[in-house]
Amino acid sequence: MQDITLELTKELVARPSITPRDEGCQEIVAETLSGVGFAAESMCFGDVDNLWLRRNTVAPLLVFAGHTDVVPTGPLDKWRFDPFVPTEHDGYLYGRGAADMKASIAAFVTAVTRFIEACPEHRGSIALLLTSDEEGPAVDGTKKVVDKLSSRGEGIDYCIVGEPSSELELGDTIKIGRRGSLLGRLVIHGIRGHVAYPHQADNPIHRCLPILNQLAGTAWDEGSDEFPPTTFQVTDITTVDSAENVVPGEVCINFNFRHSTVSTADVLMARVEEVLNEHNVRFELEWKVSGSPFVTKNGQLIDIVSRAIAEEIGINTVPSTSGGTSDGRFIAPTGAQVVELGPVNKTIHKTNECIALEAPGQLSNIYYRILVGLLT
Ligand SMILES: [Zn+2]
Repeated sequence: MQDITLELTKELVARPSITPRDEGCQEIVAETLSGVGFAAESMCFGDVDNLWLRRNTVAPLLVFAGHTDVVPTGPLDKWRFDPFVPTEHDGYLYGRGAADMKASIAAFVTAVTRFIEACPEHRGSIALLLTSDEEGPAVDGTKKVVDKLSSRGEGIDYCIVGEPSSELELGDTIKIGRRGSLLGRLVIHGIRGHVAYPHQADNPIHRCLPILNQLAGTAWDEGSDEFPPTTFQVTDITTVDSAENVVPGEVCINFNFRHSTVSTADVLMARVEEVLNEHNVRFELEWKVSGSPFVTKNGQLIDIVSRAIAEEIGINTVPSTSGGTSDGRFIAPTGAQVVELGPVNKTIHKTNECIALEAPGQLSNIYYRILVGLLT
């Protein structure tokens, strides 16, 4: 039997939708689902295409969320096959976006279609939220769509994000939350001067070292049941107009916190400023919250997803909050239960991205079981 989810995955991979382009992927999905009662609403913000597809208007609403854009290919000569010519080889489908996350989108479509054919009178509503701005700045994508939905009172109860959450085997890991990401840019001022006359200068590098040492050695929290402890990492140290015989006038330091819900961004900012004040330095500090932490506590969605994986694959999944941030961060604050479940992430963003040939079909079956669990 032809595997319809694998075929649809290939059709999507053949579209070179390098972020923020969509290249007609959303149209393929909209066309397929309009046949089973979905109303399509495209929401374009800036040069980003977003698509909101919804069937029925009653609660509870289950949303499948994902992105049609992919990261750039990198050097083409390092690929075994053209990244936009989906190619089957040795049990795998090769192509950019195969795992992140066009197989998931194909699986959304085939799971939903089969479910509606089997249970046309299901309870609640089903929606798909697709963006072409997940791999880029993520400004005009899911965030704006969620804002628009909220402004007109469209509440999401459950959300499955199709990001490749699995580590070694499909379904072995689901993400039930993500850490927050907080960026800091610190400038420490000194007095510029000749290295041979240090008493006439004030070296800001010397001043920043004990401070960074203290920040790097601080235990910010102990984490929680769901989250590992908060971490602090310096990502860059630079000076301006440096020369071998000059003590620089200032030093710029970039750093990043990955934090749990135990330490809020506000608490971390205040604690860093406290340390700087203790050291009596002249400084400027800018902050950027690039993602707030979120977590879905144990509940109905996690139970149903775990059971669907156990029944389809025969393994017990592990709920995790590790890894970078995802578009789930925009959906969880609306009060929705959010779980990320998708293919094995071993090759994502790499050359020769690939997915096991049976994975799209299996993923479709898992999503199908989740639909049955929540909406029948
Ligand atoms: Zn992704």
